[in-house]
Amino acid sequence: MRFIDLSVILEPTRAEPVPTEIGYVSHEEGADILGKPAGIDRRHFPDGMGLSLEYVRLTSHSGTHVDAPSHYGPTCEGAPARSIEELPLEWFFQDGVVLDCPGDVRDGPVTRGELLEQLDRIEYRLKPLDIVLIRTGADRLWPTAEYFTNFRGVTEDATAFLVEAGIKVIGVDSFGFDPPFGEMLAEYERTGRQDALWPAHFYGRKREYCQIERLAYLDRIPRPHGFRVACFPIKIKRAGAGWSRVVALVP
Ligand SMILES: [Zn+2]
Repeated sequence: MRFIDLSVILEPTRAEPVPTEIGYVSHEEGADILGKPAGIDRRHFPDGMGLSLEYVRLTSHSGTHVDAPSHYGPTCEGAPARSIEELPLEWFFQDGVVLDCPGDVRDGPVTRGELLEQLDRIEYRLKPLDIVLIRTGADRLWPTAEYFTNFRGVTEDATAFLVEAGIKVIGVDSFGFDPPFGEMLAEYERTGRQDALWPAHFYGRKREYCQIERLAYLDRIPRPHGFRVACFPIKIKRAGAGWSRVVALVP
């Protein structure tokens, strides 16, 4: 079994509008903290060192993460939308399939037609709970500022096609599942159409599904199907997303 890491590293980066901050507490500082209740400091510890730790400040959507239905709106399918810690674990360990939809912002969001074409090309029939990974190649821009502005996104129609096939988890190797924020806002300004704004995300108010954003290295998976994906999200109380170390398991 080969394990292929499909996640980015949580790090301070210009690729995200809210950069992750990491404060490192050294082994020496850790000794002072641990010893404090007893009135001792680093000088009393073996080699002058205690235990290190890190303080991390980030959003629930920083780095590679899984969006939960409660991110899209307060309700889904007419019931309260489930948050990340409420979702069934079996959604996050299933057979995987990679669909190749390369391009950048100029190509527009990935369409249902492209997904059908790719499924045809790899001769694969989707089954319920498959984890579908859409490879656009946008991860090559991580960790530059262009990562936030230059990627494709996925149309509402393509999302609906997958969810209607029983898919619960769809992943994409770019900043977001919808087109870049600037593109959507400019289209709204131009047309006044409300459906220009986060249409694939808002589809999740009608039908329950999760999306993995900021995947990476999908090109390292040696075959389009015939592998498994593990993408368990971290449990954060009532959160609309959770970070995940996404891994492809290839026999
Ligand atoms: Zn997200």
